Amino acid sequence: EPVKPAYARVLVKVSGEALMGGEAFGLHWPTIERIAQDLVEARSTGAEVAVVVGGGNILRGASVAGQGLDRATADHMGMLATVMNALALEKALEQAGSPARTLSAIPMPTICEPYARQTASRHLERGRIVLLAGGTGNPFFTTDTGAVLRAAELECDAVLKATNVDGVYTADPKTDPTARRYERLTHDEALAKDLKVMDAAAFALAREAKLPIVVFSIREPGAIAAAVRGQGRATTVAP
Ligand code: UDP
Repeated sequence: EPVKPAYARVLVKVSGEALMGGEAFGLHWPTIERIAQDLVEARSTGAEVAVVVGGGNILRGASVAGQGLDRATADHMGMLATVMNALALEKALEQAGSPARTLSAIPMPTICEPYARQTASRHLERGRIVLLAGGTGNPFFTTDTGAVLRAAELECDAVLKATNVDGVYTADPKTDPTARRYERLTHDEALAKDLKVMDAAAFALAREAKLPIVVFSIREPGAIAAAVRGQGRATTVAP
């Protein structure tokens, strides 16, 4: 008996680093294929699936800015990196059997469709997995903020944040053996306890929009589909 999705429409945030697999840089194709299969499985629960892809496996604006390169230009380069990742994931999704569309916050119509809310919504309604590239389209933001922004405007029921850790902990589990994982938290509790769920701008927007954030590890195969079903190891931050 297939388990029904816990959310009708989700926004999955996949960091650039998740696409590297064990490599130090760039794209690890077997890992991308695995993530694509997981997204297809998530879609097969019946949920509509939008994905915001990061770019940290290729370039982070804050890391390359300096000397002659100003931050805004470096961030433009970072946003372009997210488009490269989205195109790779789009291909992998199609090969895994799902229609997929990349929509870029930075218009580049010879490569993919420009992002518009109505276009994204229509693709989702038609069952396509929608890859939202280019973050917010503005420098000085992150793809986490892009994820929350798109989730709010596309009226997603949750942001599923795929990371390297299986949730939000009382302390850093890598350095503190007494660290405990939260099963559930409110946005206010996370803020009061100064727990880093997302960067401050992204988290403030999620709190304002009362958007649930589900934090889980992408290292587990099938983790995205499990999160869509409301299962698996995760921390849910919700009002
Ligand atoms: N970026 C930006 N505006 C956005 C989203 C991303 O300028 O709205 C740039 C920024 O330089 C960032 C890079 O794109 O470092 C890659 O995104 P991010 O660091 O969020 O990727 P992730 O950490 O998820 O791989």
